[in-house]
Amino acid sequence: MKTIGVIGGMSWESSTEYYRLLNRHAKARLGGHHNARSLMLTVDFAPIEANQRAGNWTALGDQLADAARQLERGGADLVILATNTMHRVYESIEQAIGVPFLHIADPTGNALRAAGITRVGLLGTRYTMEQTFYTGRLRERYDLETLIPDEAERADVHRIIYDELCHGKVNDASRAVYQRVIEALAARGAQAVILGCTEITLLIKPEDSALPVFDTTALHAQAAVDWAIESE
Ligand code: GLU
Repeated sequence: MKTIGVIGGMSWESSTEYYRLLNRHAKARLGGHHNARSLMLTVDFAPIEANQRAGNWTALGDQLADAARQLERGGADLVILATNTMHRVYESIEQAIGVPFLHIADPTGNALRAAGITRVGLLGTRYTMEQTFYTGRLRERYDLETLIPDEAERADVHRIIYDELCHGKVNDASRAVYQRVIEALAARGAQAVILGCTEITLLIKPEDSALPVFDTTALHAQAAVDWAIESE
C-alpha cells in the first residue's frame, strides 16, 4: 500500500476523524489487521486562522506548501489537505511537490455525479461558500449548480464552525440551526447537501438532514485509501 500524507490540524478535531476514517476504510477493504499507511503533519491552526481573517492567502499557500514538502520528504506518496477552506491555496501545494495531490472537491463531485445530482446545497466556512475556488471547481469539472445559504444563515454556519466545532463543541441548538438551513436549501431546489467543511460531520449525520448528505471528510479519506491501495 502507498503512504498517504495528511496536512492536518485545521482543526485537529476533524483531523482525528480523518485518521479514524483512513484506517477504517483500509480495514473495510483489506480486512484483518490492515491499517492505512499514513503520515500526518499537524500545523498550528491559530496563525492560520488569523491569516484567513486577514486575507493573507499567499502566506498561507507558502506555509502549506512547506508542510506538503515535509510530508513528501517523510515518504508520502500522495498528499491530502484535511480542510476544504485551505483548498483556496491548493495550487501552491500542488506545485511544491512531486507526488500527486488529491483535491477534496473531486471525490465529492464524482459521488454527486454518480448519484445523478445536478443542484446541490453547500455548507462550509464563509470562504468556501462565498469565494469561487470551490463552487467554481464543482461547476467546471462536474457541471454542478451550487446553492449557498442566505447571508444570515451563512454567518451562523461559519460561526458555529469556528466557535464550536473547531473546539470540539457539538451542541444540539447548533444542529437545529444547521437543520433549518438544510431545509431552506431543499425548499430552494437543492437535491442534496455537501458538508463542505471537515468538522460538520461531527454535528450532522445523514439522519439529521432533510437532504442526502455528501460528507467531504469521509469521501476524501475513502478516495485517498482507494488510491493508496489501487496505485500499489
Ligand atoms: N476544517 C474546515 C474546512 O474544512 C474549516 C477550518 C479551516 O479554516 O481550515 O473548511
